[in-house]
Amino acid sequence: MMTCRCGGPLRLDLGHISEAQRFNCLTTARLLWKCCLCGRSLWLEQAAVASRSGSVTLAETKAVA
Ligand SMILES: [Zn+2]
Repeated sequence: MMTCRCGGPLRLDLGHISEAQRFNCLTTARLLWKCCLCGRSLWLEQAAVASRSGSVTLAETKAVA
């Protein structure tokens, strides 16, 4: 799982994802993550995410979007 600098869990911003989908750029869009604890938002390239957590994240992204 992705974690924030403060140690809190990061969650994908689903609103951002649906917007990326609407503009048909989900595969290239950067992912916006938000910390559940401190509310800090974090932009991550999908490549960076994939290298950390494998391909699970993108699969989950498509499932929830
Ligand atoms: Zn945090």
